Order: sequence, then structure tokens, then C-alpha cells
Amino acid sequence: MVAPSNIIAGSIVWVEDPEVAWIDGEVKEIKGEKITVKCTSGKLVVRKTSNVYPKDPEFPPSGVDDMTKLAYLHEPGVLQNLRCRFDINEIYTYTGGILIAINPFQRLPHLYENRVMEKYKGANVGELSPHPFAIADSAYRQMIKEQISQAILVSGESGAGKTESTKMLMQYLAFMGGRNNNTGERSVEQKVLESNPVLEAFGNAKTVRNNNSSRFGKFVEIQFDGRGRISGAAIRTYLLERSRVCQVSDPERNYHCFYMLCAAPPEDVEKFKVGNPRTFHYLNQSNCFELDVLDDSKEYLETKRAMDIVGINQAEQEAIFRVVAAILHLGNVEFVKGKKTDGAEPKDDKSRMHLKTAADLFMCDEKSLEDSLCKRVIVTRGDRITKSLDPATAAISRDALAKIVYSKLFDWLVQKINISIGQDLESKFLIGVLDIYGFESFKTNSFEQFCINLTNEKLQQHFNQHVFKMEQEEYKKEQIDWSYIEFVDNQDILDLVEKKPGGIIALLDEACMFPRSTHETFAEKLYQTFKDHKRFVKPKLSRTDFTICHYAGDVTYQTELFLEKNKDLVVPEHQALLNASKCSFVSSLFPPLPEETSKSSKFSSIATGFKQQLQSLLETLNATEPHYVRCIKPNNALKPGIFENNNILQQLRCGGVMEAIRISTAGFPSQKMFREFINRFSILAPEVLNGSYNDVAASKRILEKSNLSGYQVGKTKVFLRAGQMAELDARRGAVL
Ligand code: ADP
Ligand code: MG
Repeated sequence: MVAPSNIIAGSIVWVEDPEVAWIDGEVKEIKGEKITVKCTSGKLVVRKTSNVYPKDPEFPPSGVDDMTKLAYLHEPGVLQNLRCRFDINEIYTYTGGILIAINPFQRLPHLYENRVMEKYKGANVGELSPHPFAIADSAYRQMIKEQISQAILVSGESGAGKTESTKMLMQYLAFMGGRNNNTGERSVEQKVLESNPVLEAFGNAKTVRNNNSSRFGKFVEIQFDGRGRISGAAIRTYLLERSRVCQVSDPERNYHCFYMLCAAPPEDVEKFKVGNPRTFHYLNQSNCFELDVLDDSKEYLETKRAMDIVGINQAEQEAIFRVVAAILHLGNVEFVKGKKTDGAEPKDDKSRMHLKTAADLFMCDEKSLEDSLCKRVIVTRGDRITKSLDPATAAISRDALAKIVYSKLFDWLVQKINISIGQDLESKFLIGVLDIYGFESFKTNSFEQFCINLTNEKLQQHFNQHVFKMEQEEYKKEQIDWSYIEFVDNQDILDLVEKKPGGIIALLDEACMFPRSTHETFAEKLYQTFKDHKRFVKPKLSRTDFTICHYAGDVTYQTELFLEKNKDLVVPEHQALLNASKCSFVSSLFPPLPEETSKSSKFSSIATGFKQQLQSLLETLNATEPHYVRCIKPNNALKPGIFENNNILQQLRCGGVMEAIRISTAGFPSQKMFREFINRFSILAPEVLNGSYNDVAASKRILEKSNLSGYQVGKTKVFLRAGQMAELDARRGAVL
């Protein structure tokens, strides 16, 4: 960062401000370590010299499109740049190779027209305004030129615009790699784009942070043939939030599909026996039923149309919505202690009626459904004993059934979409687009946040490795002079969470397998094990919470539901019940289990399964050339025109944007192998071709003659500072 050596009385500077993060003002007096500044707000403040930054007097009124072009590159300058661009609806800005995208919270259709895609096609990055199309274009061209797979990683907190950005990237890739087909059949890319509404209907919900929040992670893999044409695609999804099916809190909603079905045309409402969403327990725990921005009845028809397109036929659609309706009715079944036995039974006629409706919709036997909720079969030494559950446990069993059915339904949809799109198993390379939940830290944080933040730690490490480690290691390998930029490595956090044995997940799995464990014993175990761990803290006032010091800040997790939520239980009774459904769709969601596992509920760990999924995602990513889009949410009101400085700075820090800025200007953004360099620039010093120069000497000679400074010559490459390549190119152009 720029040292304030050029600050004198009268200078215009930035000083920290608790409210707006940075405020500008005029230096009134400098006394040793202290500077007195009269802020533009009128306030007079005294600050330490090291916390005062010069303000660029020549700052262009509409900012610069790449942060690395800022004359004074420091935090207030970065913020000022983003802000003045945002004010004129320039929502995209580069930071070296990273695209920063600020959610405008208003439609800016002129940015995404076909005409605009045409313009970006083949244009060099930096030639046109920053845009997701430019990132997609550069990924596509790099794939063709270097024949390696690419990945575009889109990150940011909930509501920052990840999913919208992903759609634009996909739109552009479809535009570049699409084929003209006259067969009337829909192309791979059309199917991928048109599968969005289906996934969103079943996987998105209104949350406090985003009216259309994706409650799952998504990696879309677009496959290309040797000629750069799209030949297939696959969608991988990660960790759908299951708890939402049974539990919503004000002012959030359950998954969109439930409300859509309730708003369906009358004949469908009747057929699926739904009605006012206020009458369903799984929906009326929150007071939010309708959304301004979403017309559920219209969406219902749109979703069905999208289902048609991705090849989900009428019979399947009917079965899908029957399952959705069945879940709603299931949720309305309440239990009380039975009169004859101690076991649970449906509370009253109303509960019985909902139970019957649920059974009808699942096309399974009513009595079997009741038994599967109220009873458990226990096998001990070969004997089968039927045990009645108490009402509270029966309600848990009911919710477990709803959640497992819903998550199987979601997986079925993803699989169906994949079959319909079609993979190309012989594809040459791929471009993957990752849209996954950003770092989360709420008032209360549970198992979901734990998994989500693990994802972000892993992606952050991937980002670190690319932007920082790779760069620095390259300089080291080339033995060039380079004062190392410090960055926070997060391997220690990953070890804390993932290490096997001994990490938090391993301890959680152990606790889940041990019948007498509770969240208290689990927390106690964590406290003992990680007493001295730098990244682990036991909060003073709690007996069961724990805090992890994540790269993006400290998060305190409540362990209460960790054990429960980590268990991926398919209760054998539920399994058998739905496997026996007369509806082939329902029974196919629950294929028979192999003999030995079907006897009793077997524990399988969600966290460990997720960890493996992440591992495989990272392996895929490691085999690609990554590109980054960092989405920023300018305000928590989800409104246009509001730019909250502190909020945005926090996001820039979390996403590693500030560090990336430092490294890209401090380092050598352009690097060329000697031979390539000589081939390109020998025209600037033709004598290097006369035979008396080796590669190093020739490269040095060219550089000396061009009067540049600050560059480095390594063992195999020339390292140029920002802007120097352009300078050389310009001279070469003048000679040619
Ligand atoms: P995320 O996936 O990061 O949670 P979304 O992509 O769903 O966030 O964006 C949240 C909302 O913000 C969208 O529903 C849309 O209203 C708005 N939004 C995001 N990006 C844009 C954009 N580029 N143009 C217009 N509106 C946008
Ligand atoms: Mg999203």
C-alpha cells in the first residue's frame, strides 16, 4: 500500500471513519506521528500518520475499469472506485484477472443483449468494459488455444448475485459453443439454460438475505468437442438444505414449489388436494406466503413448461407434484399419546384425514404409513420386536420422512435433467461454472453453516494457491528478486475440521455412532481435543457452543442439532413403505436396500459424504485453469442505489480481493518464456538474431534497449511489471 510520505499540510487525504469506513478531508497540521484532518463532513479528527492515505487529485470522475490502473492503490481508493462506478451503473470492475460484480438490484437489460455478446466475441480482455461475458470469452478462448479445461468460480454471500452471474456466463458459453441445429430438437445448451427454472422451483426459497436464494451448491460442467463446440453437459449439486422442508421461520419461506402448487389452476389444486398455503404446518410456521417479485401461479405453469423441455413427461410431472402435495399433508399429521397403548397415534379426525390424503398421494397403504411413523421394529438376536414411539418421536419420524422424500425427489430431478441433457463421455475439455453458497455467519449457526463454511475454506485455499502460492513459487523457482507478500494460509483450519482421525468431522461421526452421545458430550470432546488449537475457541459463556476462527472471521456454532443433522438415516420402515408404493415413480425413489443394511437404521455421515464431494470437486478444479468472479452485495435492504461502505469492504476482504490487488500490482503480471519473448520483440533489437546472443542475453538486450525499469529476468522467463507488455507491444507496432 502507498506510504503517506507525500502528505503535507493542505493535502487531500482519506481517514478512517466508523460510519462510512473512509472519509476524505484536508490536512490541517502534521505533528510527529499525528495528523489533524478537517473532514468533508466538517468534523476535525486526529489520526496516526500510518492510518492516513493520500487521495488521488486526478481521480477520473467515472473511475477506472481495472483496480490495477488506480494511481493510488489503497483501500479507500478501491472503495471510491467501486462506488463511483456503481453510481453510474457500471457494476463490473476488474482486479487484475478477477471480476468484481456488484449486484445492482435492478434490471439492466442493455448489459446482456445478444448485441453485447457479439461485441465481446473475440475481443481482448480489457478492450471492452468488464463483464461476465469477457470472463466467459477468455475462458473459452484459453480452452481452445491451450487445450486445457477451464473453471469459472463464482462466489459471494447470499444475495450477492452469484446465480444471476452464473446464468450470464452460461448464456455466453452457449452463444460461443452452440451448434446450429435444424432438427427442431433442443440443443444441449438450451436444455442447460432451461433446466434452471426446474432446479430453482425445487431448490430455491425466499430467505432474509435473498428472495430467490439457492439452497444448494451447483457445478455445471459444459463439455466441448475438439472443435470447441458444446457436446454435452452435466450438473452436479451439493448439499441441499433439507431442514427447510419442515422448518421455516418468519419472514422466510419454504421451497418455491410448495407455494406454486397451492397457486396452481383449480383443477390441479383439486387433483393434488392442496389449497391455501396458510393451512399447512410446513408453510404456516412463517407469516410469509406471497412474494412481490414472484407470481406463484405463473411460476407453476413456467416450471411445468421447463419440465417439458428437460424431458420430464406428464406422468412424471404428476407424480412429482403428488409427492410435493403428500409432504404438505404429512406435515399436518399431529400425534398424541394413544388411549389403549402408550404409543403415539394421530391426534384427531383432522390428522387422520391428512394422513389418509398423504397415503393416497404417495399411493401407499394408509395403515402402513401410520405404522411407519408411530412404530419401530427392533431386531435383537434374530428376534423382531415392534416398539411404539412416543408422540414427540413420531413427529420427528414424520419430519424425517418428509425430508428424505424431498431430498430424493430433488436428486431425481437433477439426475433426470442430466440424462435429458446428455453427457459427452468422450469430450476433449470442459468449462465448469461453480455457483456455491458464500461464507455464512449468523446469530445462530448450525450444521449447515458449518458445512457451507468448510466449502468456503476449501475454495479460499484454492484461490490462495492460485493467486498467491503459484505466483510466489514461480518467482522463487525463477530465482528473481521478490519481497514476499504475506498472506493468511488456512491449512490449519482445514486440518481442524477435516483431519482424519481427530478433526471435528471425525469426532462428530464418532459421536453419531455412539448411542449414548449427546451434543453435550460431543462439545466436551471438542473442548478437550482442541484446547490449544489456534483456530478453535470455547466461548466463555457457553457449555456447548464452539467458535472457529475462519479466514473470513470468527463464527460460533451451536452444537444442539449437529448429531441429528449429520445422520443420513433412511429408516427401514420408511424405505419399505415407499418402495411398496403403487406409483412407480415413488417406489423408484426408494429402491430396495441390500439385505444386510435393511434390518436396522444404519448411520451414514452427511458431513463425511459432503467432505468427499468437496474433495472430488477440488480435484476437478485443480485440473482446470481457474477464473474468478467475486459478487458483492451492496446493501442488506436488497434495494438499488444503496452502497454500504463497511459492508462492502468486509466482503472484499473475505473474498481475498484486497490481497489479490496487492499481489497483482506488487508482482509481475506479464511473464513470457525467453524464446516467445525474443520471437515477439527481436524487432526492437534486431542484432540479437545474429548468432552471438544466447536466449538470456538476447532477452536482456531487448529489455535494455527499451529503457524499461523494474522488470526481472528469471531462469527461463522474462517478468514484466504492470503495463510494460503493452508498452513493448506499442513500440513493436510502431516499428512494424
Ligand atoms: P445469490 O445466488 O448470490 O444468492 P442471486 O443471483 O440469486 O444471488 O441474486 C439475488 C437477486 O439480486 C436476484 O434475484 C436479482 O433480483 C438481483 N440481481 C442479481 N444480479 C443481478 C444483475 N446482474 N442484474 C439485475 N439484478 C440482479
Ligand atoms: Mg444463488
